[in-house]
Amino acid sequence: MAIETVGVIGAGQMGSGIAQVAAIAGYKVRFYDVSADRIEAGLATISGNLARSVSSGKLTEAERHAAIGQITAANAIDDLAAADLVIEAATEDETVKRKIFAQLCPVLNPTAIVATNTSSISITRLAAQTDRPERFIGIHFMNPVPAMKLVELVRGIATEDATFEAARDFVSKLDKTVTTAEDFPAFIVNRILLPMINEAIYTLYEGVGSVEAIDTAMKLGANHPMGPLQLADFIGLDTCLSIMQVLHDGLSDSKYRPCPLLVKYVEAGWLGRKVGRGFYDYRGETPVPTR
Ligand code: NAD
Repeated sequence: MAIETVGVIGAGQMGSGIAQVAAIAGYKVRFYDVSADRIEAGLATISGNLARSVSSGKLTEAERHAAIGQITAANAIDDLAAADLVIEAATEDETVKRKIFAQLCPVLNPTAIVATNTSSISITRLAAQTDRPERFIGIHFMNPVPAMKLVELVRGIATEDATFEAARDFVSKLDKTVTTAEDFPAFIVNRILLPMINEAIYTLYEGVGSVEAIDTAMKLGANHPMGPLQLADFIGLDTCLSIMQVLHDGLSDSKYRPCPLLVKYVEAGWLGRKVGRGFYDYRGETPVPTR
């Protein structure tokens, strides 16, 4: 299965990063989002990142130019028809993802591989809704995609070896390291990380510490590069809540109960860095805690 053209669905923080690293690795990229504005914003982010990589000596001007030339905006999902691999990186909502696969699969070549970047949703269940469960796989990138070395590969129950090998080969061409996770809620990284973030939010909710105290405690006391609330804002609080709900529903254990304060922030639309406000307010020069 030779992969030359990669479709990316979702031009948010993850889709933009995936399009960027695939283009740098020489793949032709078709970049689609339901919102044309998000595609524009995604392309602007990629362009800014590539320019910074030239300034810091990580890329040459010729490589930057070549990478930009590999990415084409897709106006409709039909424009992904030529893709050998499509990576879905849309909102973490099973209904949204199912609708995308229902539209996507009929336009694709039957041999094309369909992958999802979901942080938590069952690969087996998503695959079962498509016409190609054997050519369906989880390719779970970390945020920010250009900087983070790890990619989790998650097989559904029906994923064929050839699909897994093609995905592994693709990821290694992006100069990333693969870890393999079984298809259980939230896989490895988020199964461990999100309960910690949720606990940090409970710690805030119960008044044990302020935003600043909790983040400082975990940065200096546990040597984490970012505090858990800062990290939650970076991931996106809507994504954090969805992952906790998947853990709670999928494992039926009350220890995964999403913190009511997380629910409140999401209901307020304070989704973190991507909207300018979450546990910190990013609208000024320096982030200011919101509690
Ligand atoms: P985001 O909110 O930044 O972007 C989501 C994008 O999906 C938006 O641009 C939205 O317009 C688009 N979208 C929504 N419905 C769509 C549709 N029907 N068709 C096409 N596009 C549609 O979210 P994100 O942080 O980039 O997360 C995307 C996916 O990646 C999620 O599944 C998330 O769980 C996963 N993920 C996120 C992180 C993280 O740290 N944020 C890390 C790993 C994986």
